[in-house]
Amino acid sequence: MKATLNNQIKEENEVEIQTCIICYSDDILETKCKIQCLNCGYKRDCSDP
Ligand SMILES: [Zn+2]
Repeated sequence: MKATLNNQIKEENEVEIQTCIICYSDDILETKCKIQCLNCGYKRDCSDP
């Protein structure tokens, strides 16, 4: 379904919300181009397209 696809893309573009995608904690440490969840240790950087 086209509508479903559009929703997925939109959600991926909203990663600026500083909430862990693993544990949904908002206890996020943000540096220049990386974020780390201080609750579960999940890390992410901006290398994702
Ligand atoms: Zn987490």
